[in-house]
Amino acid sequence: MADVAIDPVCKMEVDTAAPAATSEYDGTTYYFCAAGCKRAFDDDPQKYLSGGGSSSGKRWWQFWRL
Ligand SMILES: [Zn+2]
Repeated sequence: MADVAIDPVCKMEVDTAAPAATSEYDGTTYYFCAAGCKRAFDDDPQKYLSGGGSSSGKRWWQFWRL
C-alpha cells in the first residue's frame, strides 16, 4: 500500500509516491494535490499549519461546536 500524506492546504490525501507537488518547510516535507496548493502554501505556510496563531477567522471545525 502506498503511503499517503495530507495536503495541508485542502486536506486531501496525496500519494507520497507520486505527488503533484512537494514543498519543504522547517525541515518537513509537505505533499500537495496540485501545484496551486503548493503555491498557496509557499505563500504563507503558517496559515496552513496548526499552531500558527493566525487570527484570521475561525477554522471550519470550530463552527461545529457553537
Ligand atoms: Zn490540494
